[in-house]
Amino acid sequence: MTNTDADMPVGGANNGFATLGVDPRIADALSALGYEEPTPVQRAAIPALLAGRDVLAQAATGTGKTAAFSLPLLTRIGAGHKAAVGGPSVLILVPTRELAMQVAEAVHRYGKPLGLHALAVYGGASMELQIRALKRGVDVVIATPGRALDHIKRNTLKLSTLRAVVLDEADEMLDMGFADELEAILEATPAEKQTALFSATLPPRIAGITRKYLRDPEHVTVEREVVPEGESARVRQMAYIVSRAHKMPALARVLDIEQPTSAIVFCRTRTEVDELSETLTARGLRAESLHGGLSQDQRDRVMQKFRAKKVDLLIATDVAARGLDVKHVSHVVNFDVPADAETYVHRIGRTGRAGREGVAITLAEPREHRLLRNIERQTNQKIDVAQVPTVADLRAHRQELVKATLREAVLEGNLDAFRGIVESLAGELDLMDLAAAAVKLVAARDGGEEAEIPAVTPREPRERSEPRGDRPFGRERDASSRGDVRERRPEGGAKGKKAKRETAWTAATLWIGAGRKLKMRPGDLVGAIANEAGLDSAHIGSIQIADNFITVEVPEDMADEVISALKNTKIKGLRVQVRRDRMR
Ligand code: AMP
Repeated sequence: MTNTDADMPVGGANNGFATLGVDPRIADALSALGYEEPTPVQRAAIPALLAGRDVLAQAATGTGKTAAFSLPLLTRIGAGHKAAVGGPSVLILVPTRELAMQVAEAVHRYGKPLGLHALAVYGGASMELQIRALKRGVDVVIATPGRALDHIKRNTLKLSTLRAVVLDEADEMLDMGFADELEAILEATPAEKQTALFSATLPPRIAGITRKYLRDPEHVTVEREVVPEGESARVRQMAYIVSRAHKMPALARVLDIEQPTSAIVFCRTRTEVDELSETLTARGLRAESLHGGLSQDQRDRVMQKFRAKKVDLLIATDVAARGLDVKHVSHVVNFDVPADAETYVHRIGRTGRAGREGVAITLAEPREHRLLRNIERQTNQKIDVAQVPTVADLRAHRQELVKATLREAVLEGNLDAFRGIVESLAGELDLMDLAAAAVKLVAARDGGEEAEIPAVTPREPRERSEPRGDRPFGRERDASSRGDVRERRPEGGAKGKKAKRETAWTAATLWIGAGRKLKMRPGDLVGAIANEAGLDSAHIGSIQIADNFITVEVPEDMADEVISALKNTKIKGLRVQVRRDRMR
């Protein structure tokens, strides 16, 4: 082991975040959260934002982008912070309600030591409650564009105190049809402010916004060509897409099937490392933690045990595993997709050594699929994406193991002592039953009942639309794009029936932020509305499908219920934006 104490961040105010200029109180909180060092996008964006510059960053989910913009902006507010009266200091715009909640939670955690308050504001939730919370005073508002604009128009969200605006997942916001809202919001913000734009991709329309609203931005790109380490070609690389809630059982299942002789499981934070090793130990596996919070002595002891094969699983952070030189690692498991390709290459380089075959397995959340694809592209190596093995796969696998164990025992011989037992029972029991009972006892040694882990669809990178005309945002919902709308009718929506329906109910038109480019068909929508909102297809009116959105008519008195039902579900595996169509 070549680690020295110098490799380790000492934690708290002296860690890599404080060195970048992040407020030491926030840096302390990050150490407590188990963050050991800044990710590449954080290293690049934090100093620029702290210096008051605008930033244009290309960074996908999973790179640590939320902290990359939050930490410096919170540090800047914190420096001369007075009570948040009048209006917020920072506005973060995000495409979805889920992301709003997630970012608000992160900002809340990071800003807590400075006493800063964050509020998520999104559609589909009570306006009244949001207004009350805004009145009480918040420092950072995290909002979806439509709801932000509603509040701005009502003057319940005041922008005069804003010092910074962040557009998070800007490409997604454009794809979801928020171009006009974004433009209106940005026009309403004070001229003197900082602007940061974070986007997984940089299609031409993003360049349009950048030109119009960012001043001499620092460009941050963390994608670099990575030259793979010579031996990583020997490594079989695969990934399982699994939801956050099922990651732990998925890891257990993968370990069960792969039966690694010796594995390193990488996590992002110390906290995660400790939780995983506790859980795996409780499942009877020989696991130990290795992270920057341990003393040199403790780390040496863990490594000695791992080398001596007294420990099968080493659960580690990147910092702690840096410079680790172990020859016999059969598997590397990434519990999270690493924040960049370089880290990925370093991690998987720990296996497949000394002429041995290695396996690298990555557990990715659906949102992290893009990050995975980026890594694949940069390393020029294929990562096979598969579904987590099912209970049936696991059973089949265990059966094979039992058979192999029995075959081995028969070939090994030395069975005389046991033959006596079989002979004494053979008189009273059927031989086949006897053998089956013995097999049952062998099988019971490994693992008990397992619950099914639901299969999830990866969120594929979406196709991007090209700019329409020279407006920076393009207009997904203007008259010209309406010309591109093809009218379709759901089953049961034949023209003859329409007149009857029209007299029966007043229609409200809903706008759904996914269209032909995401292969949405009328049937997908009818199915979702019928199943989730309990509305029968006779009450679904005209459905129009355009490239990037769908409009659908539903009875006015059911509209809000349908909106909230569709917001809480997935259509074709996607969460989609749903609201009343404002063109009508
Ligand atoms: P994001 O790209 O913002 O969605 O962040 C992905 C995940 O990485 C979140 O769970 C963060 O809590 C975590 N994270 C962000 N920065 C770091 C860091 N420097 N070290 C460890 N984990 C981090």
